[in-house]
Amino acid sequence: MKLRQLEIVLESLNGFPNPSARLEQYRTPAPLAARFIHTAMMNGDIAGSSVLDLGSGTGILSIAASLLGAVEVTGIETDPDAIRVAEENAKKTGCTITFIQADLRRSEEWRRIPSAGTVIMNPPFGAQNEHADRPFIDCALERGEIVYGIFNAGTRRFLGPYIIGRGEISDTISAGCTIPRTFSFHADDRREIPVEIYRIRKTRPKTSRQEKR
Ligand code: SAH
Repeated sequence: MKLRQLEIVLESLNGFPNPSARLEQYRTPAPLAARFIHTAMMNGDIAGSSVLDLGSGTGILSIAASLLGAVEVTGIETDPDAIRVAEENAKKTGCTITFIQADLRRSEEWRRIPSAGTVIMNPPFGAQNEHADRPFIDCALERGEIVYGIFNAGTRRFLGPYIIGRGEISDTISAGCTIPRTFSFHADDRREIPVEIYRIRKTRPKTSRQEKR
């Protein structure tokens, strides 16, 4: 499927019925979601791969991955209302996706989350709760081989040191994310936020022999 075609399908999906500010429920705009997953596909990380979408919301990233040839797609989401919309969106687009309800802050719930070749996510940026993205990053590095995430531009400075010994940022894709007025504290009708999509390669823990060298 071509990028433009993908964008049109994603544009037709339903969004959050009652977006929650606490959970930072911002739907990834269709052009950004399409570009994100299309770029990951061109890197060889989607077609034929198992894909895990952390904080899957209404399913836009999971659906994009499925449409671009991911073989097993699982979305993890804490909000059951969002899961209902995601299931409708998947059905509407003919995608087979498993959505699992779990709170990523509770690491004991990670047991129910399958491993995958590629993790994709648009985690909370931590605007409401500082470090809200950390459980996403930690779980992604535990469950995935390759991790893609959308972050505020410049997050690399903090993310690199945070994941040291667990993963390395191998690519940065700069993009804009247009956020329409969603919550009462939003002053503008829409705001363009500079974001960066990072591709993270998991680093394996060194064996004791390698460490001696
Ligand atoms: N992936 C979707 C939604 C992004 S918004 C998209 O790209 O449009 C972030 C999502 O993470 C929301 O759906 C929110 O409900 C979910 N979320 C926030 N905190 C979570 C947590 N602790 N555990 C699981 N999901 C969480």
